[in-house]
Amino acid sequence: MLTYIVLLGPPGAGKGTQSKVMANELNLPHISTGDIFRENIKNGTPLGRLADTFISKGQLVPDDVTIAMLRERFTQSDCKNGTILDGFPRTPTQADELEILLNSLGGRVNLVLFITAPVESLIERLAGRWTCKAGGHIFHESFNPPKKKGVCDIDGSELFQRDDDKAETVLNRIEIYKKQTSPLIQYYTERGLLVEINGFESIEKVSAQVMAAVQEAKNSQP
Ligand SMILES: [Zn+2]
Repeated sequence: MLTYIVLLGPPGAGKGTQSKVMANELNLPHISTGDIFRENIKNGTPLGRLADTFISKGQLVPDDVTIAMLRERFTQSDCKNGTILDGFPRTPTQADELEILLNSLGGRVNLVLFITAPVESLIERLAGRWTCKAGGHIFHESFNPPKKKGVCDIDGSELFQRDDDKAETVLNRIEIYKKQTSPLIQYYTERGLLVEINGFESIEKVSAQVMAAVQEAKNSQP
């Protein structure tokens, strides 16, 4: 049976970690559109060259190009039992397009996992990183603080905060994600496919929730 699982989740919720666990447990390839773009561009495929004309201008790759790459990827032998899909769809329109693609391959989206956590804990995980000017050594205010504030333990040089690691930047990324994704969350909720996973727990506990949801979805297959 084909199993297509879509992963959703804001930055910092642990989506990357869980996708690796799932890929192992379920023996399904983890497919991210970012990876597919890079792969096609690196290999100079016609679709890759086309995608690159948009990416190099800072534009979004049109859906029909992304869908064509996904179609090509989904028909490779490692996808014969399905895939775990990450980074696509992002909108209800793309979700419709994905459904058409999967139907043509004899499948459909079986489960959508929305891994999330309270905004404060996402910020705590993502923000608060401090980087050493001299050696690039990385510390974290909460999880790996330097012995002396603002000073690298290893070489004694000054620590600074990258823009990406500042709380306000992180909050902004989370807000954008929530705003962009809410129509898609609604789309899959209405179709009875969405399962919300509490990502604010240990990796093992989150994995247990994920695997229970997968099992439940398999049991409810006709
Ligand atoms: Zn250092």
